[in-house]
Order: sequence, then structure tokens, then C-alpha cells
Amino acid sequence: MASVAPRDGFTAPPHQPVAGSAASVSASPDEFKPLHLPPAWQAQLAGAIRDPRELCRRLGLEDAWLAGAQTGHALFEVRVPEAFVARMRHGDANDPLLRQVLPLGEERLAREGYVSDPLAEAEHTSSRGLIHKYAGRVLLITSPACAVNCRYCFRRHFPYAENSPSRAQWDATLDALRDDPSISEAILSGGDPLAANDRQLAWLVARLEAIPHLKRLRIHTRLPVVIPDRIDEALLGWLDATRLQKVVVLHINHAQEIDDAVIAACARLKRAGVTLLNQSVLLRGVNDTTDALAELSERLFEAGILPYYLHVLDPVAGAAHFDVPDDEARERVAELRKRLPGFLMPRLVREVPGEASKTPL
Ligand code: SF4
Repeated sequence: MASVAPRDGFTAPPHQPVAGSAASVSASPDEFKPLHLPPAWQAQLAGAIRDPRELCRRLGLEDAWLAGAQTGHALFEVRVPEAFVARMRHGDANDPLLRQVLPLGEERLAREGYVSDPLAEAEHTSSRGLIHKYAGRVLLITSPACAVNCRYCFRRHFPYAENSPSRAQWDATLDALRDDPSISEAILSGGDPLAANDRQLAWLVARLEAIPHLKRLRIHTRLPVVIPDRIDEALLGWLDATRLQKVVVLHINHAQEIDDAVIAACARLKRAGVTLLNQSVLLRGVNDTTDALAELSERLFEAGILPYYLHVLDPVAGAAHFDVPDDEARERVAELRKRLPGFLMPRLVREVPGEASKTPL
């Protein structure tokens, strides 16, 4: 996703850190005046590790890991911000954070049932950048880039270049939302929607909140986790100001991801009136033990985040080595239920293409 080339109608905004990022909400790029300094988060985004050799060197991995890392990188490029790397254990290839981002040679192996579009999103894309799967909600592909490239991502093959609207297409999408009173919630997704810059996001949110029947703004993001400095004054300005109810759904898979900086970023979001939820993916070698899942829920609550979903892996090509079979997943959750209060229990779900909601397991 990060290697998406700039599209028709898009001119890179000032200080855009990487080709194809911070891009999709192309709110008249001509309006954007150069800033004197990029925000700190953009500098961190620009400095993210994008070379498998550098990732292995930085983590002190033996040379044996490099060939696989390069093979996987050729399929889906490495991207890891330093702030996330700093939470990994040096010299430990089994570190649960590193496992989420380290490419492996296994990614090239075909596995029956693992495909490029496991959720059949192509069938639900009603116009460029707009995915309408569930009643009352629409999902807007707001940015084609992520701050981190997660190896298990179900959108690792997503055709962002075909789903990155120009300004005119955004206007058409917003018109369509205005004409459909059944829609009460807009979900900003990506990529990572917070990889777009704040002028672009403020432009989009101002137009969304002008649609009377829209009640909620939901943002699916991993940026506050991997670059907590993303939650800065500029972001809080437009977020705090909107009349829409705000929900940020974070994506955290392991308690080790939540350090003091993440907790502080979450506190800033809560002060802006945001409800914080988390969705995780059950991943072999990352969080597939009852202890890891219990620690994750406890740590989420310490950070003011409620566990929401625990997804089983979507069968995306290249990620089969992360799979945890359904029976084992149910067993983990049954064990978890004996240890945690109900409000710390995520719902174990699978997304089944064509279903009207997530499917509980
Ligand atoms: S899981 Fe989220 S943050 Fe990670 S690559 Fe996919 S869209 Fe980006």
C-alpha cells in the first residue's frame, strides 16, 4: 500500500514524508501553503525503517533472517517507525512486535483459500474510495498509506491506486452520502486515515458534519500506537471542534505496544471527547496465549481503551503463517473469560464476505 504512486488529481502536500502517503483527501492541494516545519509525526513517518537489512541490523537479528526478510519485502514492503521499533526486544526474533512487521520467506508460499481480497471488498466498493458493506455505515478510504506495514494486513494487496479519489470524486462521494439518510456513521479507513495531513482531514470532517443525518465519525487507525506524536494540537483542533460523536478504533495486538507515550496520546484523545476502542487480530506467535490476551485487555483498560473485537485472521495471501485455527481461538477466549470481567472481553469474530455484520465465533 505504501508504494502507491500519486494519482490523477493529486499533488503531494507540503512535507509529504513518503510517496503515496498523506494523500487521499485531496482537498484542493493548491490551497495548501508550505509550512515552515513539518509536524514531528511527519518527520517520524518519513524516517520509518523501509529496508529489511536495516530492520534486521537495528534489531540485532542474525544474518539468517535477512534472505527471508528481503523475499517478503519484495511482496509487501517493510515499513516500521522508530517509535515502534524502540518497544521491541533487541536480538529476539520472536519479539511479538517484531513478528508483526518482519517479512518472512514464507509469505511467498501459496496456501489454499488465501487470496488477495479475502473480504471481497471489490464487490462492495460503490464508488472510488467508498466501501458500503453494512447498513447505516460507510467506509471511506481516506489515505492509501500506513505508518507501519503489518504483515497480516487483509489489505496488503488492496488496489489503493484505484480507490484514491480526486477532489471531484470526493465531492461526488459526499453528495452520495448527503442523498442517503440511512447513513448515520462515516468510517475513515485506509491505509491509515491519520496518515493524511490535518488540513485534509479538517476539510473532510467539516464536510461530513454538514450532512445533517450523519451522527458519528469513526476513525480506524494504528498511528497513535506506532507514532504517538501523531496526536498533536493540529489533529486535536479539528477533532475537538466537530459536532459529530467521535470513536477512534485503535489496532493493538500486544500489551508491549502500549508504552507511556501511547497512554499519553490516548489521554489527549479522550480529552477531545473521543471514545476509544481496540480491535486486535489473533496471531500465531504474537498473542495466541491466554496470558498475552489477558495482559492486552488489562493494559488497554489502563490506557483508557475498551477491547472491542478480536478478529481471527482474514485469509490474505502471504499471511497464512499467522493463522490460529477456530477451535484454538475459541479455547483461548473461553480461558480468557474465566480471568477477566466482561467489559474487558473482546468479541471473537470473523468477517465473512457478504454477511450483514461481523460473525461471532
Ligand atoms: S493492519 Fe492497519 S496499519 Fe497495518 S498495514 Fe493494514 S491497514 Fe495498515
